[in-house]
Amino acid sequence: MSNLSEGIKVKLAAMTDDYIKQLPVRFDELTRDIKNAKSRGTLEFLSILKNSLHKLAGSGATFGLDELSVKSKELEVFLSSYLEDNTNSEFFDWTTFDITLGKIENICKPKENIEELEELEEVPQVFTTGTDEFIMDSDTERHEHNVLVYLSDKEDSVISEISDQMEIFGFQIEVFYDISEVETFIKKGNCRLLIINSSFIENNVAVANKLSKLKKNYSNYLSFIFVADRDDFSLRLKTVKSGGDAFFILPLDTGILVDKIDKLTSKLNHPPYHVLLIDDDPEQIAYYALVLQQAGMITSVASDPKRVIEVLVESKPEIIILDMYMPTCDGIELAAIIRQHEAFLTIPIIFLSAEQSEEKQLEAMKSGADDFLTKPIRPDNLIIRINAKAARSRNLRFLMERDSLTGLLNHANLKERISIEMMRVKRSGGNLSYAMIDADHFKNVNDTYGHLAGDHVLKSLSRLLQDRLRRTDIIGRYGGEEFGVILINTDAENAFRVMEEVRKNFALVKHKSDESEFFVTFSCGIASFAECETSSELNDAADKAMYEAKTTGRNRTIVHKK
Ligand code: GH3
Ligand code: MG
Ligand code: MG
Repeated sequence: MSNLSEGIKVKLAAMTDDYIKQLPVRFDELTRDIKNAKSRGTLEFLSILKNSLHKLAGSGATFGLDELSVKSKELEVFLSSYLEDNTNSEFFDWTTFDITLGKIENICKPKENIEELEELEEVPQVFTTGTDEFIMDSDTERHEHNVLVYLSDKEDSVISEISDQMEIFGFQIEVFYDISEVETFIKKGNCRLLIINSSFIENNVAVANKLSKLKKNYSNYLSFIFVADRDDFSLRLKTVKSGGDAFFILPLDTGILVDKIDKLTSKLNHPPYHVLLIDDDPEQIAYYALVLQQAGMITSVASDPKRVIEVLVESKPEIIILDMYMPTCDGIELAAIIRQHEAFLTIPIIFLSAEQSEEKQLEAMKSGADDFLTKPIRPDNLIIRINAKAARSRNLRFLMERDSLTGLLNHANLKERISIEMMRVKRSGGNLSYAMIDADHFKNVNDTYGHLAGDHVLKSLSRLLQDRLRRTDIIGRYGGEEFGVILINTDAENAFRVMEEVRKNFALVKHKSDESEFFVTFSCGIASFAECETSSELNDAADKAMYEAKTTGRNRTIVHKK
């Protein structure tokens, strides 16, 4: 187990420790609720007491204090059935209640000293990752893992022929002739994709075995692309046995190769899921947040239901984990409020609660929840469930929001994002620029080289934009051969600099059709928030600037001036 997992284990244990130390205070609060219920004698106070017990059952389960959780649950159920059948609290059976309460008191306020208690308590189970051979750095920019290895048994021209073009797309290629050196290189975490000349394994069983071992050891991390000078079944089979993920026949087409590399590495390196946890108990929130963070997720938390919509707008989570019982409103009501907002209709809501009544759980599902998890839940179980839900939701959202050719935001979603970002700048200050891009003489490209070649050009422009812009920038396909880019926190001058670099690089990309090679350019118009009040003004201004770029000769960038 790595230091990281040990570190998290220590943190979770420290949280449990804090929780145990706070138990006497929690019990005092419970005693206050009991006193109120006894003296006022109304159902309302019995109901408040029931909620306190529910919370104790949930937190006890979370921190591995099973007996505390079970006993609190017992009393909660006892109170629940009383509340369902009775219209006053006069005849509530406090004697039976107090017997179990005594057991809870023993756990919360032990007569023995606190160390002894800690020994008795079960240590909560802590999630640890499988193999910890690699600790991935948290990626802040797009396409960081851009170093590729080319491995061959001899000097050849396979890579030198395309390396200039690969560089435009942000790839740096290291050439190796010795597999042991590659292994050292990979172990340092320098590279996640190998392009291998098949001739290297064809007649060298030792190398083939070594590669397949390497792949097995780092299967979550490494991809292999084999290249060969001919198509041959037995050669293909050898590459598959050595761990090959793809097989290309020479000569290589840069566009197709880059596309494959992106597909292979994005599968390995998807951005972390973003989870919002809503619970009124800060200790439980902290515990679950830590568990999810350790599994590589980003977490936001909200403990006040009234602020939830605000937090949703700001932090844009992909999935919500919701507690069932909170003071101002319960989880079912809060789920209904979230679902009232069009923008949050499809975000998955998962209840995480100590509520065991099937009826209540079904009621929660009817309110628009996607799943109901009961506490206690093992950390690894929680992670698997949340991962699966988040992955499904991300896939669905991708299909709804994205353009199928380029994977960029589609027209409607790009426009929506422009208005959202404009509102954000208005509210919190700062700046943004919007760049509109239109491929030059694209009708000619289609007419001369065919529609399919035209599609490849659009894909490579999209890929270049994704490589050259920051992860925070928003890129969309506005229409046919038109693209839109929202540059966050960027004034017109800097937007001009960035887009000029993209334009110049794109002009260098060599496109291929069946027999011929050709180049394509684009024209770009930029407008920024500083000159425009509304998103439609911004759009019109960028469009006007782009039109000016077209009429003054194309293959240039023009900034809108008021
Ligand atoms: P200009 O420099 O003035 O922009 O000239 P243009 O030919 O690019 O402009 P025009 O608007 O006349 O033509 C756009 C062309 O883009 C026509 C259309 O066939 C092509 N196009 C639009 N969408 C796609 C697509 O998805 N794939 C391909 N291959 N071509 C497309
Ligand atoms: Mg056009
Ligand atoms: Mg055009």
